[in-house]
Amino acid sequence: MALIVHKYGGTSVGSPERIKNVAKRVAKARAEGHDIVVVVSAMSGETNRLVALAHEMQEHPDPRELDVVLATGEQVTIGLLAMALKDIGVDAKSYTGWQVALQTDTSHTKARIENIDDERMRADLAAGKVVIVAGFQGISSEGNISTLGRGGSDTSAVAIAAALKADECQIYTDVDGVYTTDPRVVPEARRMDTITFEEMIELASLGSKVLQIRSVEFAGKYKVRLRVLSSLQDGGNGTLITFEEDDNMERAAVTGIAFDKNQARINVRGVPDKPGVAYQILGAVADANIEVDMIIQNVGSEGTTDFSFTVPRGDYKQTIELLQQRQDSIGAACIDGDDTVCKVSAVGLGMRSHVGVAAKIFRTLAEEGINIQMISTSEIKVSVLIDEKYMELATRVLHKAFDLGN
Ligand code: ASP
Ligand code: MG
Repeated sequence: MALIVHKYGGTSVGSPERIKNVAKRVAKARAEGHDIVVVVSAMSGETNRLVALAHEMQEHPDPRELDVVLATGEQVTIGLLAMALKDIGVDAKSYTGWQVALQTDTSHTKARIENIDDERMRADLAAGKVVIVAGFQGISSEGNISTLGRGGSDTSAVAIAAALKADECQIYTDVDGVYTTDPRVVPEARRMDTITFEEMIELASLGSKVLQIRSVEFAGKYKVRLRVLSSLQDGGNGTLITFEEDDNMERAAVTGIAFDKNQARINVRGVPDKPGVAYQILGAVADANIEVDMIIQNVGSEGTTDFSFTVPRGDYKQTIELLQQRQDSIGAACIDGDDTVCKVSAVGLGMRSHVGVAAKIFRTLAEEGINIQMISTSEIKVSVLIDEKYMELATRVLHKAFDLGN
């Protein structure tokens, strides 16, 4: 008998029928003798609907009140799932994030988990109940409802698995595992049986959409055994995210190609080439809690230089505005940008021991006439920023170039 955390995303609980299917799956695991904690998302589309409603009230919704609204989506699905389980004779009890309690810091809409009280969950499990917890939400250190950022239910599930020292955290989603790239873009994409944490973190952060990045980091930190599986089909082992690189395995240079449209490029042109300028620009952006991804500064000529970086597309306008307000103190000649760009990345632990991966990427893109606007690299990743209209083409040709297909 094991203690297993199941997590079901929005698509898996997207209709009453699907919620009943989840109940059947949970009942089956329970019948096999396992203790089960279920974490659920809101029904698909619901969180977007709530965000849109809030924006009808205020251009920039008050963060505390936005969290009050956003947290309702998951409250519906926990109650419905508990009913569906009871209906088929499985004793179950639902809890909101603040009832559990899942304690967070005070950064509304992107709160971080600080502590989880496992007492109520353990008592229910000991009494033979299935415990259902609302994902994505918690209670802040000031006693307010908080949410963990979009896709945050994954992180809730992993954090709960860590707190309960669960044997496995199973993320049920609408795909049957982690693929070498998005199969909707490249039909030859292949499901991986295992992937390492390091690779998964790079792929998740690059927008492969399977798991929220923070959940993977959390799993790595607390050594939670994490598996991605399909909730829409039976059988299959999904993809297990492994802790250690299998030494015996001959690794390909590249294991996956990820793409991300949630990108915008900001250019700060003609800034003085002197100490402190990067800090002036990026400090202001960081103070606004905007995440910066790729950064490039050119070698200066005649005392000035150009500085470019990328931010999430939703933060594009705000970033331009806040830099324009500081344009004089920064001493920039011009601030502009482009929010029709995307990032395509090749990821692989094998890059550490293979040379020429970056050159192969550049050659492959050049052969298709795709212009590269920015490049960034890490030990196991090469990313390029390109015009978004080439996103699918670039992904396809790179997937093929590294022979990742079936
Ligand atoms: N319902 C939230 C969202 O759509 C959280 C989640 O699904 O993980 O972002
Ligand atoms: Mg999700």
